[in-house]
Amino acid sequence: MIKSKLPGTKPSIFAVMSALSNKHNAVNLSQGFPDFDLDKELIDLFNFHLSAGHNQYAPMTGVPKLRQEISKKIKNLYGFWYDPELEINITAGATQALYTVFNTVINPGDEVILFEPAYDSYIPAIQINGGIPVTIPLKLPDYSFDFDEVERKISDKTKAIVINSPHNPCGSVLSSENLKDLERIAEKYNLIVISDEVYEHIVFDNLHHISLCMSELLAKRSFVISSFGKTFHATGWKVGYVAAPKYLMEEFRKVHQFTVFAVNTPAQFSYADYLSNPEKYLSLNEFYQNKRDFLLKGLSNTGLIPYKAQGTYFQLFDYSNISDINDSEFSEKMTIKGGVAVIPLSPFYGQNYNGKVIRICFAKKNEVLEEGISRINKFLESF
Ligand code: PMP
Ligand code: GLN
Repeated sequence: MIKSKLPGTKPSIFAVMSALSNKHNAVNLSQGFPDFDLDKELIDLFNFHLSAGHNQYAPMTGVPKLRQEISKKIKNLYGFWYDPELEINITAGATQALYTVFNTVINPGDEVILFEPAYDSYIPAIQINGGIPVTIPLKLPDYSFDFDEVERKISDKTKAIVINSPHNPCGSVLSSENLKDLERIAEKYNLIVISDEVYEHIVFDNLHHISLCMSELLAKRSFVISSFGKTFHATGWKVGYVAAPKYLMEEFRKVHQFTVFAVNTPAQFSYADYLSNPEKYLSLNEFYQNKRDFLLKGLSNTGLIPYKAQGTYFQLFDYSNISDINDSEFSEKMTIKGGVAVIPLSPFYGQNYNGKVIRICFAKKNEVLEEGISRINKFLESF
């Protein structure tokens, strides 16, 4: 017999809704994954590296050329230089990166501040390490970051703060003012900052991604996490990374080496070559903005009220003008009766959420989005 370490935890809403979608043959706009083919160049690189014999353990820290390319990319985009030897580590996606960072940073009783709604892995990863999540609501009407409220919630137990920008599920992005506020607070209260930037290349309307490493003071106390899954339409490859100053990275590596030790070797070699062409990731903003706009236009006469996403490949809609039922029931009904799977917002909250908001993923081929839009229009006419 074992005593559950996460007694309140249910199966992930993403797995649940994808399974329901498959069962009812729905258009799956729930779980966040692209349905596009990978770039042939990336597949060719993978095949090349398989045949070239890159099939044994990679170094624990990651393939050197990949770490060098990441360091170069961060320097070019955000102006901060991480030492590829000592300050960058490849991980099995962002999920493992986040988990290992929490594992490294949190001691029992430490409080960790995070904004709600929050990506589903943060709170369990904090709790399993004995940490106490302290949640701050994102501020309506646009789910923005409220650092005055952050400062009010800081106590002498506060160890770290989690930032996710562009934000899943809200699509909000951190502003340069936010960065200044965060810098002041992190310095004043000596906080570690854990920054989930997996959607760094999906930002709209001429906004720019603000990476935490754009502030030198923050870079010195932050773990910056990203993932190639989102950027290169390859969520199944599970390759991401952590960038952090040497003193933090040394501790991270102690934990990482006993968590996975090393990450998929041919995928790392492939990304190392592929990253040399920035066009491959810089074109994403426009690509996804067109999809967001296509979705917004297609649903503009349904009664759904959008919170226009500034980034990510997710769009939130309020359906309170249409129905009183709760968001889980509404999402199930939309999947089973309407033939389109979506995600309710409540699983992104620890407790006590009774809003009427759903999340729609638009990382889909245009014909799939078109079919989804047409079905949602038809379904909502029936209310
Ligand atoms: N953070 C956020 C905000 C995400 O949306 C996701 C996955 N969609 C992850 C982390 C996990 O990324 P990965 O698939 O690389 O583990
Ligand atoms: N991050 C993806 C989403 O938000 C799903 C990842 C997962 O299924 N764990 O939909």
